[in-house]
Amino acid sequence: MNKLGVHALVWVGGWSHDECARAIEQTAQLGFDLIEIPALDPKSIDVDFTRRMLEANRLGVTMSLGLDAATDISSGDPEQIARGEARLMDALRVARDIGATHVCGILYSAFQKYFLPPTEKGIAGSIDAIRRLCAEAAKSDITIGVEVVNRYESNVLNTAAQAVDFCKRVGAPNVKVHLDTYHMHIEEADIEAAIVETGPLLGYFHIGESNRGYLGAGSLDFDRVFRGLAKAEYRGPITFESFSSAVVNQPLSGILAIWRNLWTDGRDLAAHAKDFIEAHLKAAQEAHARSRAGLQ
Ligand code: MN
Repeated sequence: MNKLGVHALVWVGGWSHDECARAIEQTAQLGFDLIEIPALDPKSIDVDFTRRMLEANRLGVTMSLGLDAATDISSGDPEQIARGEARLMDALRVARDIGATHVCGILYSAFQKYFLPPTEKGIAGSIDAIRRLCAEAAKSDITIGVEVVNRYESNVLNTAAQAVDFCKRVGAPNVKVHLDTYHMHIEEADIEAAIVETGPLLGYFHIGESNRGYLGAGSLDFDRVFRGLAKAEYRGPITFESFSSAVVNQPLSGILAIWRNLWTDGRDLAAHAKDFIEAHLKAAQEAHARSRAGLQ
Protein backbone atom coordinates (compact mmCIF):
# COMPACT_ATOMS: atom_id res chain seq x y z
CA MET A 1 0.00 0.00 0.00
CA ASN A 2 1.05 3.57 -0.60
CA LYS A 3 2.16 5.50 2.45
CA LEU A 4 0.05 8.65 2.80
CA GLY A 5 1.59 11.89 3.95
CA VAL A 6 0.87 15.53 4.51
CA HIS A 7 3.09 18.53 3.93
CA ALA A 8 4.12 20.29 7.16
CA LEU A 9 2.99 23.67 5.80
CA VAL A 10 -0.61 22.52 6.19
CA TRP A 11 0.04 22.93 9.92
CA VAL A 12 2.87 25.41 10.52
CA GLY A 13 4.93 28.10 8.82
CA GLY A 14 8.22 27.40 10.63
CA TRP A 15 9.98 24.66 12.63
CA SER A 16 10.36 25.88 16.22
CA HIS A 17 9.97 23.14 18.87
CA ASP A 18 6.34 24.11 19.33
CA GLU A 19 5.66 24.08 15.57
CA CYS A 20 7.51 20.78 15.11
CA ALA A 21 5.54 19.11 17.92
CA ARG A 22 2.20 20.48 16.70
CA ALA A 23 2.76 19.44 13.05
CA ILE A 24 3.93 15.93 13.93
CA GLU A 25 1.23 15.27 16.55
CA GLN A 26 -1.62 16.46 14.33
CA THR A 27 -0.35 14.45 11.35
CA ALA A 28 -0.14 11.30 13.48
CA GLN A 29 -3.55 11.91 15.08
CA LEU A 30 -5.23 11.96 11.68
CA GLY A 31 -3.66 8.58 10.82
CA PHE A 32 -1.19 9.67 8.14
CA ASP A 33 1.93 7.52 7.70
CA LEU A 34 4.41 10.34 7.14
CA ILE A 35 5.03 14.06 7.25
CA GLU A 36 6.97 15.97 4.58
CA ILE A 37 9.18 18.66 6.12
CA PRO A 38 10.38 21.53 3.91
CA ALA A 39 14.13 22.12 4.35
CA LEU A 40 14.29 25.52 2.74
CA ASP A 41 16.59 26.44 5.63
CA PRO A 42 18.01 23.13 6.93
CA LYS A 43 19.75 24.94 9.81
CA SER A 44 16.36 25.90 11.30
CA ILE A 45 15.61 22.21 12.00
CA ASP A 46 16.54 20.81 15.44
CA VAL A 47 17.47 17.32 14.28
CA ASP A 48 17.43 15.54 17.65
CA PHE A 49 14.14 17.07 18.75
CA THR A 50 12.49 16.32 15.39
CA ARG A 51 13.67 12.73 15.41
CA ARG A 52 12.41 12.21 18.97
CA MET A 53 8.99 13.66 18.09
CA LEU A 54 8.74 11.45 14.99
CA GLU A 55 9.65 8.34 16.96
CA ALA A 56 7.25 9.17 19.81
CA ASN A 57 4.43 9.54 17.27
CA ARG A 58 5.56 6.56 15.10
CA LEU A 59 5.54 8.78 12.02
CA GLY A 60 7.64 8.44 8.85
CA VAL A 61 9.28 11.48 7.31
CA THR A 62 10.39 12.88 3.97
CA MET A 63 12.10 16.15 3.17
CA SER A 64 11.66 18.62 0.33
CA LEU A 65 13.41 21.75 -0.87
CA GLY A 66 14.10 23.99 -3.83
CA LEU A 67 17.35 25.74 -4.68
CA ASP A 68 17.62 29.49 -5.27
CA ALA A 69 19.42 31.80 -7.70
CA ALA A 70 22.68 31.73 -5.69
CA THR A 71 22.68 27.90 -5.55
CA ASP A 72 21.37 27.10 -9.04
CA ILE A 73 23.06 23.87 -10.21
CA SER A 74 21.49 24.28 -13.68
CA SER A 75 23.25 27.64 -14.21
CA GLY A 76 26.45 26.27 -15.77
CA ASP A 77 28.38 28.52 -13.35
CA PRO A 78 30.93 26.53 -11.27
CA GLU A 79 30.50 28.70 -8.15
CA GLN A 80 26.70 28.44 -8.15
CA ILE A 81 26.97 24.70 -8.74
CA ALA A 82 29.40 24.32 -5.81
CA ARG A 83 27.08 26.33 -3.53
CA GLY A 84 24.07 24.34 -4.76
CA GLU A 85 25.75 21.01 -4.12
CA ALA A 86 26.74 22.15 -0.62
CA ARG A 87 23.11 23.14 0.01
CA LEU A 88 21.81 19.78 -1.24
CA MET A 89 24.34 17.86 0.85
CA ASP A 90 23.34 19.92 3.94
CA ALA A 91 19.70 19.02 3.40
CA LEU A 92 20.65 15.38 2.80
CA ARG A 93 22.51 15.25 6.13
CA VAL A 94 19.48 16.65 7.97
CA ALA A 95 17.23 14.18 6.13
CA ARG A 96 19.50 11.28 7.09
CA ASP A 97 19.66 12.38 10.73
CA ILE A 98 15.88 12.68 11.16
CA GLY A 99 15.37 9.32 9.40
CA ALA A 100 13.87 10.54 6.11
CA THR A 101 13.30 8.05 3.28
CA HIS A 102 13.08 10.61 0.46
CA VAL A 103 14.56 14.00 -0.42
CA CYS A 104 12.55 15.64 -3.16
CA GLY A 105 11.53 18.91 -4.78
CA ILE A 106 13.20 21.34 -7.14
CA LEU A 107 16.68 19.93 -6.48
CA TYR A 108 17.93 20.37 -10.05
CA SER A 109 17.52 24.16 -10.55
CA ALA A 110 16.46 27.31 -8.75
CA PHE A 111 12.85 27.47 -7.55
CA GLN A 112 11.91 30.65 -9.39
CA LYS A 113 10.55 32.10 -12.59
CA TYR A 114 13.19 32.08 -15.34
CA PHE A 115 13.21 34.49 -18.27
CA LEU A 116 15.25 32.27 -20.63
CA PRO A 117 15.15 28.56 -21.49
CA PRO A 118 17.81 26.31 -19.92
CA THR A 119 21.04 25.58 -21.80
CA GLU A 120 22.28 22.08 -22.63
CA LYS A 121 25.47 22.84 -20.67
CA GLY A 122 23.39 23.91 -17.67
CA ILE A 123 21.27 20.75 -17.75
CA ALA A 124 24.36 18.54 -18.11
CA GLY A 125 25.90 20.23 -15.03
CA SER A 126 22.69 19.70 -13.07
CA ILE A 127 22.62 16.00 -14.04
CA ASP A 128 26.23 15.55 -12.87
CA ALA A 129 25.50 17.24 -9.51
CA ILE A 130 22.32 15.17 -8.95
CA ARG A 131 24.32 12.01 -9.75
CA ARG A 132 26.79 12.90 -6.96
CA LEU A 133 23.88 13.66 -4.59
CA CYS A 134 22.36 10.25 -5.39
CA ALA A 135 25.64 8.47 -4.61
CA GLU A 136 25.74 10.13 -1.18
CA ALA A 137 22.00 9.51 -0.58
CA ALA A 138 22.38 5.82 -1.45
CA LYS A 139 24.63 5.35 1.59
CA SER A 140 21.60 6.14 3.78
CA ASP A 141 19.00 4.38 1.57
CA ILE A 142 17.47 7.72 0.64
CA THR A 143 15.58 8.16 -2.64
CA ILE A 144 16.09 11.43 -4.55
CA GLY A 145 12.92 12.74 -6.24
CA VAL A 146 13.17 15.41 -8.92
CA GLU A 147 9.87 17.30 -8.86
CA VAL A 148 8.28 18.29 -12.14
CA VAL A 149 6.88 21.81 -11.71
CA ASN A 150 5.11 24.33 -13.90
CA ARG A 151 6.94 26.78 -16.14
CA TYR A 152 6.75 29.63 -13.62
CA GLU A 153 8.74 27.72 -10.98
CA SER A 154 11.59 26.26 -13.09
CA ASN A 155 12.64 26.08 -16.73
CA VAL A 156 14.27 22.61 -16.52
CA LEU A 157 11.60 19.97 -15.71
CA ASN A 158 8.04 20.96 -16.65
CA THR A 159 6.73 17.61 -17.93
CA ALA A 160 6.93 14.02 -16.74
CA ALA A 161 8.61 13.01 -20.02
CA GLN A 162 11.42 15.52 -19.42
CA ALA A 163 11.93 14.13 -15.92
CA VAL A 164 12.04 10.54 -17.19
CA ASP A 165 14.77 11.57 -19.63
CA PHE A 166 16.62 13.49 -16.87
CA CYS A 167 16.54 10.47 -14.51
CA LYS A 168 17.78 8.14 -17.25
CA ARG A 169 20.70 10.50 -17.86
CA VAL A 170 21.49 10.62 -14.13
CA GLY A 171 21.51 6.83 -14.28
CA ALA A 172 21.43 6.22 -10.51
CA PRO A 173 19.16 3.52 -9.05
CA ASN A 174 17.83 5.91 -6.36
CA VAL A 175 16.84 8.85 -8.59
CA LYS A 176 13.10 8.98 -9.28
CA VAL A 177 10.52 11.24 -10.86
CA HIS A 178 8.43 13.25 -8.40
CA LEU A 179 5.08 14.30 -9.91
CA ASP A 180 2.58 16.83 -8.54
CA THR A 181 -1.00 17.12 -9.78
CA TYR A 182 -1.09 20.90 -9.27
CA HIS A 183 1.77 21.35 -11.76
CA MET A 184 0.60 18.55 -14.10
CA HIS A 185 -2.77 20.29 -14.44
CA ILE A 186 -0.94 23.24 -16.02
CA GLU A 187 1.62 21.45 -18.19
CA GLU A 188 0.52 17.91 -19.16
CA ALA A 189 -1.70 17.23 -22.18
CA ASP A 190 -2.96 14.01 -20.53
CA ILE A 191 -2.33 13.56 -16.79
CA GLU A 192 -3.32 9.88 -16.71
CA ALA A 193 -1.06 9.00 -19.66
CA ALA A 194 1.85 10.99 -18.18
CA ILE A 195 1.62 9.00 -14.91
CA VAL A 196 1.37 5.66 -16.74
CA GLU A 197 4.30 6.50 -19.04
CA THR A 198 6.49 7.50 -16.09
CA GLY A 199 5.81 3.97 -14.84
CA PRO A 200 8.53 2.40 -12.67
CA LEU A 201 10.51 5.67 -12.57
CA LEU A 202 7.73 7.32 -10.53
CA GLY A 203 9.03 7.54 -6.97
CA TYR A 204 7.13 10.30 -5.18
CA PHE A 205 3.72 11.88 -5.68
CA HIS A 206 2.17 15.17 -4.53
CA ILE A 207 -1.59 15.57 -4.56
CA GLY A 208 -2.63 19.20 -4.79
CA GLU A 209 -5.76 20.87 -6.18
CA SER A 210 -5.60 23.34 -9.09
CA ASN A 211 -5.92 26.28 -6.67
CA ARG A 212 -3.93 24.49 -3.92
CA GLY A 213 -6.98 24.36 -1.67
CA TYR A 214 -9.46 21.59 -0.70
CA LEU A 215 -9.21 18.47 -2.88
CA GLY A 216 -12.21 18.20 -5.18
CA ALA A 217 -13.00 21.92 -4.85
CA GLY A 218 -10.94 22.92 -7.89
CA SER A 219 -10.74 21.89 -11.55
CA LEU A 220 -8.47 18.82 -11.43
CA ASP A 221 -9.84 15.53 -12.80
CA PHE A 222 -8.85 13.30 -9.87
CA ASP A 223 -10.58 10.20 -11.28
CA ARG A 224 -7.99 10.19 -14.05
CA VAL A 225 -5.13 10.99 -11.67
CA PHE A 226 -5.90 7.95 -9.50
CA ARG A 227 -6.61 5.74 -12.51
CA GLY A 228 -3.12 6.63 -13.73
CA LEU A 229 -1.59 5.74 -10.36
CA ALA A 230 -3.45 2.41 -10.31
CA LYS A 231 -2.45 1.54 -13.89
CA ALA A 232 1.19 2.44 -13.15
CA GLU A 233 0.89 0.18 -10.07
CA TYR A 234 2.55 2.95 -8.10
CA ARG A 235 3.34 1.92 -4.51
CA GLY A 236 5.39 4.90 -3.28
CA PRO A 237 4.43 7.80 -1.01
CA ILE A 238 1.47 10.06 -1.79
CA THR A 239 1.66 13.39 0.01
CA PHE A 240 -1.05 16.02 0.25
CA GLU A 241 0.22 19.52 -0.41
CA SER A 242 -1.82 22.67 0.16
CA PHE A 243 -0.88 26.22 0.98
CA SER A 244 -2.79 29.10 2.48
CA SER A 245 -1.68 32.56 3.50
CA ALA A 246 -3.13 31.61 6.91
CA VAL A 247 0.01 29.49 7.53
CA VAL A 248 2.80 30.11 5.00
CA ASN A 249 5.26 32.92 5.76
CA GLN A 250 7.68 34.86 3.59
CA PRO A 251 9.85 34.17 1.66
CA LEU A 252 8.06 30.95 0.70
CA SER A 253 4.61 32.54 0.38
CA GLY A 254 6.09 34.97 -2.15
CA ILE A 255 7.89 32.30 -4.19
CA LEU A 256 4.75 30.14 -4.25
CA ALA A 257 2.50 33.15 -4.95
CA ILE A 258 0.19 32.40 -2.02
CA TRP A 259 -1.85 35.60 -2.14
CA ARG A 260 -5.19 34.17 -1.19
CA ASN A 261 -6.45 32.57 1.98
CA LEU A 262 -8.03 29.31 0.75
CA TRP A 263 -8.58 27.80 4.19
CA THR A 264 -7.97 28.55 7.85
CA ASP A 265 -8.55 25.14 9.48
CA GLY A 266 -5.61 22.90 8.51
CA ARG A 267 -7.00 19.97 10.50
CA ASP A 268 -10.32 19.94 8.63
CA LEU A 269 -8.45 20.34 5.33
CA ALA A 270 -6.02 17.46 6.05
CA ALA A 271 -8.73 15.13 7.41
CA HIS A 272 -10.76 15.71 4.25
CA ALA A 273 -7.69 15.14 2.06
CA LYS A 274 -6.95 11.80 3.68
CA ASP A 275 -10.53 10.56 3.18
CA PHE A 276 -10.53 11.87 -0.40
CA ILE A 277 -7.21 10.22 -1.32
CA GLU A 278 -8.10 6.89 0.29
CA ALA A 279 -11.52 6.72 -1.38
CA HIS A 280 -10.20 7.60 -4.85
CA LEU A 281 -7.20 5.29 -4.54
CA LYS A 282 -9.34 2.35 -3.43
CA ALA A 283 -11.84 2.87 -6.27
CA ALA A 284 -9.11 3.17 -8.92
CA GLN A 285 -7.19 0.13 -7.65
CA GLU A 286 -10.38 -1.94 -7.55
CA ALA A 287 -11.27 -0.94 -11.12
CA HIS A 288 -7.72 -1.68 -12.30
CA ALA A 289 -7.66 -5.12 -10.64
CA ARG A 290 -11.00 -6.06 -12.21
CA SER A 291 -9.98 -4.85 -15.63
CA ARG A 292 -6.69 -6.78 -15.43
CA ALA A 293 -8.56 -9.92 -14.47
CA GLY A 294 -10.85 -9.39 -17.49
CA LEU A 295 -13.93 -8.99 -15.23
CA GLN A 296 -14.95 -5.42 -16.10
MN1 MN B 1 4.73 19.78 -4.98
